[in-house]
Amino acid sequence: GGTIGILGGGQLGRMLAMAAAQLGYRCHIYAPDRESVAAEVSAEFTCAAWNDEIAIATFAQDCDVITFEFENVPVGPLASLADKLAPHSRALEIAQDRLHEKGFAEELGGRPAPYMPVHSAEDLVAAIDRIGAPGILKTRADGYDGKGQWRIGSARDADAIRLPDAATIYEGLVHFSAEFSVILVRGHDGEVRFWDSAENVHDHGILSKSSLPPSAQILDQLEQARTLASGIAASLGYVGVLTCEFFATDAGPVFNEMAPRVHNSGHWTIEGAATSQFENHIRAICGLPLGSTATIAAEVTMANIVGPDALSAHEMLGDPAAHLHLYGKREAREGRKMGHVTRLGPATE
Ligand code: ATP
Ligand code: MG
Ligand code: MG
Repeated sequence: GGTIGILGGGQLGRMLAMAAAQLGYRCHIYAPDRESVAAEVSAEFTCAAWNDEIAIATFAQDCDVITFEFENVPVGPLASLADKLAPHSRALEIAQDRLHEKGFAEELGGRPAPYMPVHSAEDLVAAIDRIGAPGILKTRADGYDGKGQWRIGSARDADAIRLPDAATIYEGLVHFSAEFSVILVRGHDGEVRFWDSAENVHDHGILSKSSLPPSAQILDQLEQARTLASGIAASLGYVGVLTCEFFATDAGPVFNEMAPRVHNSGHWTIEGAATSQFENHIRAICGLPLGSTATIAAEVTMANIVGPDALSAHEMLGDPAAHLHLYGKREAREGRKMGHVTRLGPATE
């Protein structure tokens, strides 16, 4: 037993809390949002701002170990709970800033899309001049589900863009044949296990589907991608689940970004793997032996249920192969991840 603190109140925290409960832990969620869907399944909930150092310190006293399900938690106020935090806040610092993240991956031998930081309209023109168009202007921090991104088709589009107040980065558009993610779990002792890599399909910047088995091209690029992901984990002394997103291209894997947490493209592991990403994250941060990451079906597909589609999701229960997960969000806003459904094909031997 013991208490696990989770920073962030979304569906990832909810699924972590469910896995923790199965292993006999109680969870205490910390989130600024009253509508926390993780709070509903956890023992304790603190609703306070990210920068409320007193609330964070009180929360930390109640917890034996603290993790996060959201990478945009400000790192400053976490200093006081560093001893209990897993993974380490350095993983957060890097993943919070696309510029640092890409530089960090490059230092470890990874290859991101060509990029340049952009602080002004002149910078943007210079970046397009050097990198070319099409490309994407992204905020360096706080983006998710494709938010804070502007596609730039040609140099002429740059004039029409009103730069946001936040720092941005321009990156060249990668001509990929597929997207995939490497999801690993790393234990206190440095042991690393990988799940199989699903092929990911995005729609308007939001993950729509992850499926296995991956294409032959993805399989070919896996070793190189895994070497980078485990190099990132090792260099951070990482404990827990780490996700790296890649583009599969004719020239090999291109690093897109990392998430220092469980990931939407790993939801299939709940039914499709011997041990889910959520359970293995809990095992890792609690110092328990890691579970097998083996895939247990020949085919697995996970489809997100986004926006108002959730209103008719119960109809899927007519399909005996469908494993439905709804996150309990009250409002089915357009573009909001409301749930997912996983279907398993024939079982492996
Ligand atoms: P997440 O919700 O995964 O954190 P995010 O908001 O951080 O997403 P990215 O992963 O940067 O966004 O981009 C979202 C999607 O947009 C990518 O998965 C990919 O489909 C597309 N994309 C992003 N950058 C590029 C690029 N340089 N070239 C081609 N496609 C891109
Ligand atoms: Mg991201
Ligand atoms: Mg992404």
